[in-house]
Amino acid sequence: MSNRKAIVVGAGIAGIATAIRLAVKGYEVEVYEKNDVAGGKMYLIEKDGFTFDAGPSLFTQPSNVEELFQLAGEDISSFFTYESVPIACRYFFENGKKINAYTNAAQFAEEMRKQTGEPSEHVIQYLKDSERIYDKVGSIFLNYSLHRSSTWLHARVISAMGAVKLPYLVKTLDQFNRSRFITPEAVQIFNRYATYNGSNPYSAPGMLSLIPHLEQNQGTYYPHGGMINIPKALVALAEKKGVRFMLNTAVEKIKKDNGRISGIVVDGKFIASDLVVSNVDAYYTYKNLLSDEAGAKKILRNERSSSAFIFYWGMKREFSELHLHNIFFSESYQQEFNHLFKLKKFFHDPTIYVNITSKMESGQCPSGKENWFVMVNAPAKPQADWQEDMNALRASVVAKLSRMLSIDIAEAIEVEEVLTPNGIQSRTDSYLGSLYGTSSNSRWAAFMRHPNQSSRNQGLYFAGGSVHPGGGIPLCLKSAKIVSDLIGYLG
Ligand SMILES: Cc1cc2nc3c(=O)[nH]c(=O)nc-3n(C[C@H](O)[C@H](O)[C@H](O)COP(=O)(O)OP(=O)(O)OC[C@H]3O[C@@H](n4cnc5c(N)ncnc54)[C@H](O)[C@@H]3O)c2cc1C
Repeated sequence: MSNRKAIVVGAGIAGIATAIRLAVKGYEVEVYEKNDVAGGKMYLIEKDGFTFDAGPSLFTQPSNVEELFQLAGEDISSFFTYESVPIACRYFFENGKKINAYTNAAQFAEEMRKQTGEPSEHVIQYLKDSERIYDKVGSIFLNYSLHRSSTWLHARVISAMGAVKLPYLVKTLDQFNRSRFITPEAVQIFNRYATYNGSNPYSAPGMLSLIPHLEQNQGTYYPHGGMINIPKALVALAEKKGVRFMLNTAVEKIKKDNGRISGIVVDGKFIASDLVVSNVDAYYTYKNLLSDEAGAKKILRNERSSSAFIFYWGMKREFSELHLHNIFFSESYQQEFNHLFKLKKFFHDPTIYVNITSKMESGQCPSGKENWFVMVNAPAKPQADWQEDMNALRASVVAKLSRMLSIDIAEAIEVEEVLTPNGIQSRTDSYLGSLYGTSSNSRWAAFMRHPNQSSRNQGLYFAGGSVHPGGGIPLCLKSAKIVSDLIGYLG
């Protein structure tokens, strides 16, 4: 008997992971990818000897990657290696305070006490609660489909419900953090975790306080060779398991026959399949691949996550005061988010994230220089041309970094590339250039994300940042597992 065939549309991280899981299950798997390389939002920019990871830069929960190699019976070390990074982030405040967020809780708490006066026990207790809520709630709701009764009948759900105290639901993340910390710096640091899924800490629920567990307790990691080596290693694993990648091949339509998915259309030609997994933004999938306007409109009931502007700067010199991950905070965080989510504009004093992989290994840029990935959150909105915003934003970023680092930053930039929200959209079909699909700006957002399986189109599944459980590499990899489990149940 011939194998059942599965088609995956899109070779983003969740598409590749789904392909591996289905190949291991015995499916004949083909992945169709419109770009000339797999990885989606994860790709490489190389210019004049400088190498930049274009998309994600923070690697957490490597266990999701490890699991794929275990499942496939392969030794991860011959594909992919990484190391732990003991400082999750270095925070810079306009008042001159600098804080190292050590992934050792006691060390981090002591640093917070020394630099800001925040009592150490506040930080320790917050991180313990973050772990508890992640273990009780996150482990169920992030690892299983929310749209199957078996999840809700699971005995652990009752225990999870018991752990969800009212403040996690009724308070915003900011209100929650204000009730736990006495210093503005601690509140701001822990508010920032809302941005890990493109949300607004002044709207998103206190439940997002489970996110620091991923970074501060479970640790941050650096993949050798950069983030790009995650999709590269997974593609090599997938190919070893028999997955076939069709690059430079855009899918035009997903086809249905009598209410059941029957295959895809590429270059005007029909390709049959037993099931299709879309790794493309759910909005784009409904609107363009299924021509289902009503389905697409439904996705937009949930607010989009924020987008971003990224400047890739090759720097002429090294900066000893900087680490792998650095944050330069806005003086008025609330106004910044009000601009991004309500006014849909940039704030004149943006929070700036600077990632420098040459801090971790040589070969990322010429010696004595640095490769800076400089990211500022951007509103998710339709806009034909970002040039004017870009010019103003660049001036604000240069002025702020120059002020906070006491050096003329503009003068130190040797190489420059820029990625705009439109660039993110056109490369990956992520609507409005959202980094993480939909935001978590309401307490119901987690339940309103599109399921991993289509109820209207039998045989159609969804994996990736725009569907349950959400965006970011760890959750995308979890969505691949949920899809594979769902397919397992249904055959
Ligand atoms: C600038 C930036 C910074 C980020 N930082 C982090 C971070 O530090 N840590 C973190 O964990 N996450 C981060 N993220 C989020 C993370 O990158 C995403 O959540 C994740 O990579 C999304 O993966 P995905 O599987 O949903 O697919 P995507 O990466 O969205 O890929 C979808 C794929 O589908 C393809 N496709 C689209 N249409 C078609 C079609 N018609 N036919 C065939 N193929 C098609 C696209 O070309 C693309 O390859 C960041 C994202 C960006 C953009």
